[in-house]
Amino acid sequence: APAITPIGRFAPSPTGPLHFGSLVAALGSWLDVRSRGGRWLLRIEDVDTPRIVPGADRAIIADLARFGLEWDGDIVWQSQRGDRYEAALDRLRALGLVYPCACSRKEIADSTTVRARDGALRYPGTCRGGLAPGREARAWRVRTTPGEICFDDALQGRVCEDIEHEVGDFVLLRADGVWAYQLAVVVDDAEQGVTEIVRGADLLDSTPRQLFLQQLLGYRRPDYLHLPVAGNQAGEKLSKQTLALAVAEQPAPQALTDALAFLGHALPRELRGAPVSVQLEWGLANWSRAHLPRSAMAPAPAWSAVQ
Ligand code: GLU
Repeated sequence: APAITPIGRFAPSPTGPLHFGSLVAALGSWLDVRSRGGRWLLRIEDVDTPRIVPGADRAIIADLARFGLEWDGDIVWQSQRGDRYEAALDRLRALGLVYPCACSRKEIADSTTVRARDGALRYPGTCRGGLAPGREARAWRVRTTPGEICFDDALQGRVCEDIEHEVGDFVLLRADGVWAYQLAVVVDDAEQGVTEIVRGADLLDSTPRQLFLQQLLGYRRPDYLHLPVAGNQAGEKLSKQTLALAVAEQPAPQALTDALAFLGHALPRELRGAPVSVQLEWGLANWSRAHLPRSAMAPAPAWSAVQ
């Protein structure tokens, strides 16, 4: 087979500034693809407008620059790509693979107690056979099919899920007009030619849904590597909700040294805290997937969250 240039990406949601967990995801993806001479893209996932924090995109972009994590080409904003998501939904609609749904959150909660791995309620398929008379379409859902969907994660091993059984028909276009992450991410990764998806293990449970959509839309399946997520002292995923602090609060060389160590690439003593360009150069020369920790969560440094 001809050698193809790997294409990776970092796809942050601008819901707050970069924290240690998102730095780790950016760094892991950057090193993994750059160490093989590949391209690295930056995509701002700002479709979920109610959760967006104004200015967070610019803060994230400035942080990446401060860490020397350079991207290729133009930054892509999902908020400007609604026509692409619409076109994908239209294709699925023409194939009869999606249907409008009238159910409110409360109606779903009243009709099922089955929960997916991520805690969300399984959709019981109420509107599958058509809307009841007088009911108005709120969201669009994709028809799932029974059977396991599996993939071999480069770090976490084989992962399988029967999405019909565990998740049910999931939303592609929300009742509030917002494009669902699952659809937007699949369309963009395919259109941008992404071949290697390196991201946090918190997204492991989303991957079978994304594989399913790729298959329906006739897209090529990228390779996946899900990095351990950074956990605080209480063992919770570092996030805005668990009081993660902005990496911008730390000197960049210190934060980068800690992020490399988190990824199983502890710098030799004399390079710890060195200028970021020196650290990244060492990282590129020494990067090995075999050094990555294989857990789903690993402890973040004490400075990264309010204790
Ligand atoms: N935008 C998603 C997030 O920040 C990540 C998407 C992805 O890497 O697939 O959680």
